[in-house]
Amino acid sequence: MTEIHTYRCDICGKAFDNEDDCREHEMEHDATKLKGAVVMLDPQGEVLSLDDIHTAIEITYAIYVRCKEAADILWKMFDSNGYCTPIEDIETSVQYPAFFTYDEDECRWQYMRDLEEEYNRLLKLKITAENALLH
Ligand SMILES: [Zn+2]
Repeated sequence: MTEIHTYRCDICGKAFDNEDDCREHEMEHDATKLKGAVVMLDPQGEVLSLDDIHTAIEITYAIYVRCKEAADILWKMFDSNGYCTPIEDIETSVQYPAFFTYDEDECRWQYMRDLEEEYNRLLKLKITAENALLH
């Protein structure tokens, strides 16, 4: 006697006899939901195709996410592909739309708003320095 397992897609109901194939198929549904809400770029600034979501997740350097709903789907996919997500690295609260870039030196994601704040802080110091010369 052989017991046969079947896996069913939660979204469309398609049946699979292999768990990994089913998970892969469900991920394709998720990738479809990301279209129009997520753009991922490679280090050269080329837009990555969401049709090959595994490659996109693997090599992406910059991510634009329009809304939290899409972000939640995307981070889940990062997680199941074994990659750390921007929200694990970023301590400030993220407001969408949001833009993230990967810092190769620090091996962590950066939130553009944090970079802007740092830039503004430095700019203020620069102006203080310039003003000190004037008076
Ligand atoms: Zn399906």
